[in-house]
Amino acid sequence: MTIQWFPGHMTRAKRQIQEKLKLIDIAIELLDARIPLSSRNPMVDEILGGKPRLIVLNKSDLADPRVTEQWIDYFKYEGHETVAVDSSTGTRVGDIPVKAKEILQEKIDRQLAKGMNPRAVRGLIVGIPNVGKSTLINRLAGRNIAITGDKPGVTKGQQWIKTTFDMDLLDTPGILWPKFEDELVGYRLAMTGAIREQILNVEDIAFFAVRELAERYWPALQERFKLDKAPTDPSESDEIVRIMEDIGRRRGCLVSGGQVDLEKASGIILRELRSGNLGRITLEAPFPAAAGRPGE
Ligand code: GDP
Repeated sequence: MTIQWFPGHMTRAKRQIQEKLKLIDIAIELLDARIPLSSRNPMVDEILGGKPRLIVLNKSDLADPRVTEQWIDYFKYEGHETVAVDSSTGTRVGDIPVKAKEILQEKIDRQLAKGMNPRAVRGLIVGIPNVGKSTLINRLAGRNIAITGDKPGVTKGQQWIKTTFDMDLLDTPGILWPKFEDELVGYRLAMTGAIREQILNVEDIAFFAVRELAERYWPALQERFKLDKAPTDPSESDEIVRIMEDIGRRRGCLVSGGQVDLEKASGIILRELRSGNLGRITLEAPFPAAAGRPGE
C-alpha cells in the first residue's frame, strides 16, 4: 500500500497515534536496522511525548550485526532501551515483552504495592510503512491476523490482540511518515524496499545503491557479482555506471549490439540487495568509523 503523505494526512496520523497513546503503557518504535536514521519519523519524539518507549530494530537479519550493536549503544545513550529482532522468523521477538516489562517495572511495582492485580502490558507498535509492523504483530500474536485500516485518516474500533507473551497490542499499528527532506534518505528507503519503485526510477535507485556499496561494502559487491576492477573513486559517476554495466554483463543483461540493459541489471542489483544475497549490510551507523556516516 502506498500512502501519499500530504500535510493533512500527517496531522491526522499524529492525532490518531496520540489518541492511541492514552490506551497503552508503552510505545514500540519500529525502525529498519539497516537504516535506523532514514526509517525514523522526524517528529517521533514530539508525537510520543513522555510515553515509555522501546526501540525495536527490525530486519536485523539483513543488517550488519556489528553496526546493530553500535545502534543499541547509541540509543541507550539517548535514553532508550533497544532490541534487535527478525520478525520474519521471530528471532528475538520474545525480548520485546521482556524489555517492555523492565521499562515499566516501577509502574508495575507501584500497582502491586496498591494491591492491584498486574495486567498484561499494553503496547502500540509505531513505524513508517513497510518497516515490518504487521509482520511483528503476527509474530508476537503467534498467528496471522489481517491487519487493516492502518491508513492515516481511517478510523475504526480499537481491538486488543492477545499475544503469546504477557503483552497485549492494539490491532492497528501507528503509521508514521518517513523523512522527505533529503534525497539520500529517499534513495535509502527505496533501496531497502520501503518506498515503491514507481516513485523513483529503478536505475537511479540502483545507482545510489551501487555507490553506497562501493564505498562501504566493496568486498561484498565484488564477491557476489564476481567483479574484478575496484573503483578508484566511488564518488565518480562514471565508475559507478561501469560497475553497473559489469554486473549487467555478468548476469547476461544484454540488448542487441552487446549493450548492457541497465534497467534489467538495476532490478537484479536491488533484488539481491533487498533479499540479503549480498550479505548483511547496514547503510547508516551512529559513529563515524562504522558503516555509515552519522546524519547522512
Ligand atoms: P508494515 O507496512 O510496517 O506493516 O510492514 P510489513 O509487516 O508488511 O512488512 C514489509 C515487508 O518486510 C514484508 O515483505 C515482510 O515480509 C518484510 N519483513 C518484515 N519484517 C522482517 C524482518 O525482520 N526481516 C526480513 N528479512 N523481512 C521482514
